[in-house]
Amino acid sequence: MYDLVIIGSGVTGYGAAMYAARLDLSIAVIGDVDGGTITLTDDVANYPGYLQLTGKELSEKIKEHALDYPVFIESGTVTDIFRCKENCFYVVTENKSFLTKSIIIATGMKERELEVPGHDELKNRGVSYCALCDAPLYKDKIVAVIGGSDSAAKEALLLAKYCPKVYIIYRREKIRPEPINAARIEREPKIEIISKTNVTEILGTNKVTGVKLDRPYNGSDVLGLDGVFVAIGGIPYSGLAKKLGVEVNEKGEIKIDRSSRTNVDGVFAAGDVVDSEFKQAITGVAEGVHAAYQAYKYVNENEFIFTYQQE
Ligand SMILES: Cc1cc2nc3c(=O)[nH]c(=O)nc-3n(C[C@H](O)[C@H](O)[C@H](O)COP(=O)(O)OP(=O)(O)OC[C@H]3O[C@@H](n4cnc5c(N)ncnc54)[C@H](O)[C@@H]3O)c2cc1C
Repeated sequence: MYDLVIIGSGVTGYGAAMYAARLDLSIAVIGDVDGGTITLTDDVANYPGYLQLTGKELSEKIKEHALDYPVFIESGTVTDIFRCKENCFYVVTENKSFLTKSIIIATGMKERELEVPGHDELKNRGVSYCALCDAPLYKDKIVAVIGGSDSAAKEALLLAKYCPKVYIIYRREKIRPEPINAARIEREPKIEIISKTNVTEILGTNKVTGVKLDRPYNGSDVLGLDGVFVAIGGIPYSGLAKKLGVEVNEKGEIKIDRSSRTNVDGVFAAGDVVDSEFKQAITGVAEGVHAAYQAYKYVNENEFIFTYQQE
């Protein structure tokens, strides 16, 4: 039986693993995408201790730190969790199951898809969710980023290295990147912002040729494009938590207290999947560390009974 199983192999999961291992817990980390969401960016300049590095470099450093201790990493998807008859949990993947005294859920979010006509037919045919992965395919082409967050701004800045024109289409009046990225956008003549505008359809047959807008831009409600990059936030992966009776808010984010405890004893949560307003690598790692410490306390303060019976 493990003391702790961490679900999610992003920076939050690996940060929690490092800390929990230092507290001498026996730990397994189970995750399907190594490094998680931060690997989608090549520019992280706000993680204390590093002036600038890529997301992949950051996640690898945190993972490497965790692996300096006896942490077991399982590559796979958790398909089920349930409580044993007594106070332990089973965490089940496609081909294994893990018995554990406590759990940290650090499953992050999946991208929110743009729900407009044309999206499903043209996804991966000009509609992308990852500039870092796909930007080189759009060299010398005209593209748009849909969204107004800091992530959307960074996607646009990356695309401007390859493309002669990058539109940012945003439904509100003003995009809201970090000031440093806002200044970069202002200095980048290839980026043009179309605000107070929604995309209502993605146009094209077999490949993207443009988008339809809900109000005219430069006299037309059709904007010709070769690619559309969607950056409109995410939907928390909280289904497994809900199955255990963990409370979520109206957005589906797991509710935690200041110490990353959920309402279910022995179940902690951290990172993008929780109900924090500000979701960053550093905040996820910090929540993961809180969760690790609470798991340590929980494991040491309770008696555990091993049983194969499901509750
Ligand atoms: C384009 C972009 C740029 C960004 N830039 C920055 C930045 O510069 N600085 C910054 O601090 N933050 C940045 N962020 C935000 C940052 O990436 C996230 O806040 C952070 O990575 C969240 O980490 P996490 O570990 O909580 O979640 P994630 O990184 O999403 O990791 C969760 C992991 O759990 C896995 N998982 C989910 N369900 C299961 C399951 N059932 N079984 C197994 N595994 C599962 C997922 O596949 C994933 O690997 C950026 C985000 C984006 C999209």
